Amino acid sequence: MRRRRIARLRVYEPRLRWRVAGDLPRKVAGQRIVRVGRRAKYLLLGLESGTLLLHLGMSGNLRAVPAATARRAHDHFDLVLDSGVALRFNDPRRFGSLLYTRGEPQRHPLLAHLAPEPLSRAFDADYLYSISRGRRIAIKQLLMNSRLVVGVGNIYASEALFRARLRPGRAARSLTRADAARLVRAVRAVLRQAIRSGGTTLRDYLDADGAPGYFRQRLYVYERRGKPCRRCGSPVRAMTQGQRSTYYCASCQK
Ligand SMILES: [Zn+2]
Repeated sequence: MRRRRIARLRVYEPRLRWRVAGDLPRKVAGQRIVRVGRRAKYLLLGLESGTLLLHLGMSGNLRAVPAATARRAHDHFDLVLDSGVALRFNDPRRFGSLLYTRGEPQRHPLLAHLAPEPLSRAFDADYLYSISRGRRIAIKQLLMNSRLVVGVGNIYASEALFRARLRPGRAARSLTRADAARLVRAVRAVLRQAIRSGGTTLRDYLDADGAPGYFRQRLYVYERRGKPCRRCGSPVRAMTQGQRSTYYCASCQK
C-alpha cells in the first residue's frame, strides 16, 4: 500500500460518524501514500500533502478488493489505488470515520488527547507508576484501559504480567516503582516480539485483539490453562476479569 498512488476516492455514503467532506475525493486524488501508521484505533495514511485518518468504528472493516468488485450492502467508500486494488470500507452501523488533515496528525483534535502508545517514550515507569497510584482496580485491567494506555490487548497484558512476575489480579496501587519499571519493560518486550513474529501495523489495526500465529506458539500463559508453566512447571491457572479470561502462574507471579 505504501508508495501507491490514490487513483480516486469513491464515496457512496458520506454519513459516517462524521460526515465525509464533499471535497475529500478531489483533495486526495493523485496523491501518493508516503506513510502508513496507526495511533490507537486510527489508521493513518500519510499522503504527500496531508493525512487520512480512518477509524473502523465498532463494526467496520477494511478489505482490499479489485476495484471493479460489485458493492455489497454497507460498503461506504472505496479508496482506489493505482494498482487497481480498492481499499473498501464496510460498516453496517456507520460509526467509522474518514477524515483528512493537512496538519500534524498527532495534533488533530481526535488524536491529541489519546493515552500514550505502549511503545512510545511517554509510556515509561514513571507514567505507569503515577497512573497506578490510588487505584484499586486490578493491574491487568489498568493495562487494558485505553484511556490510560492504548493498544494493550488481552493476550499482551497476560503475557506481560507473566514476564514481569506480577499477578494480574493485584491492585494497581500495590505496585512498587520497581514493579512498574519491570512491567513497562515486559509490555514493550511482548509487543516487540509480536511485531517481529509477523505483526504489521495494518494487521494489528485490522485485528486489534488478534496476535500473529508464530507469536501464539510461544505464549507463556495465555490460553494455557492447566498446562505446565514454561518457567516452573506448575499448572497455569485461569480466572475471569472484566469478562475477559486471564491466565497466570500462581507460583511465578506475586
Ligand atoms: Zn510458573
